[in-house]
Amino acid sequence: MDLGIEGRRALVCGASRGLGFSCAEALAAEGVAVTLVARDASALAAAAERLKGADVTIAVGDVASPAGRAAALAACPAPDILVNNAGGPPGGDFRGLTPADWAAAMDANFLAAVELIRATADGMVARGFGRIVNITSLTVRMPVANLDLSTASRLALTGYVAGVSRQLAPAGVTVNNLLPGTIATERIKALGAMADRLVAQVPMARAGRPEEFGAACAFLCSRPAAYITGQNLLVDGGLCPITV
Ligand code: NAD
Repeated sequence: MDLGIEGRRALVCGASRGLGFSCAEALAAEGVAVTLVARDASALAAAAERLKGADVTIAVGDVASPAGRAAALAACPAPDILVNNAGGPPGGDFRGLTPADWAAAMDANFLAAVELIRATADGMVARGFGRIVNITSLTVRMPVANLDLSTASRLALTGYVAGVSRQLAPAGVTVNNLLPGTIATERIKALGAMADRLVAQVPMARAGRPEEFGAACAFLCSRPAAYITGQNLLVDGGLCPITV
């Protein structure tokens, strides 16, 4: 299938490794010019090196901060495709979570996406094409104990997208959320026995591959996916039992 996005420009956040990188890699393979955003310059340079041959630029910035988002937008002021992503908040018993913990989680996993959508959506509308994909989590559908910062901040974004995607729909701009279950990124592998326990529950009996997640992202960003908006797509090997 021709995804029809060759020559488009993508701003991909949290892209020095893991799921963000896989999304950037899948888009670059379709001929999309990608701007990778992350906080660490050397990790970004290494990620860009892995995409050698593609049209790649990098932007050093923390998307949870206004300055980081400004750096991202300076490097890619008019993206046709926006992939929102940042590291997940720490786990912990809900009794110990402070207002500062909540503010940090909301900054990284809610406001970062909201602000980047706000900054880029009108340009997409003016050009008559736009694709926004937010990396959220399985926890939106299937809350996991002690991941309340993640679940709640991502559900805030889910609600925002439910409304805004419909407002952007008439202009040919789609907004969707991609929900990873257990995809074998370095972060997941570092969880060791905890990750093994999660993977043991997956009906497909294995962890997902980052490139499988990237492929789903590239499809949602494609021209043929024009009629898909406001959706929450699980990439979880069947782990979440309820999908309605
Ligand atoms: P990861 O830690 O491997 O990669 C995160 C990437 O984002 C890295 O490049 C990191 O440098 C960058 N980053 C982190 N915070 C940032 C910030 N504030 N500003 C800019 N860049 C930032 O994680 P991952 O496994 O790829 O997961 C990506 C997201 O998906 C996380 O929010 C995670 O909680 C969520 N998630 C992942 C899984 C999974 O199976 N891997 C499952 C559920 C949810």
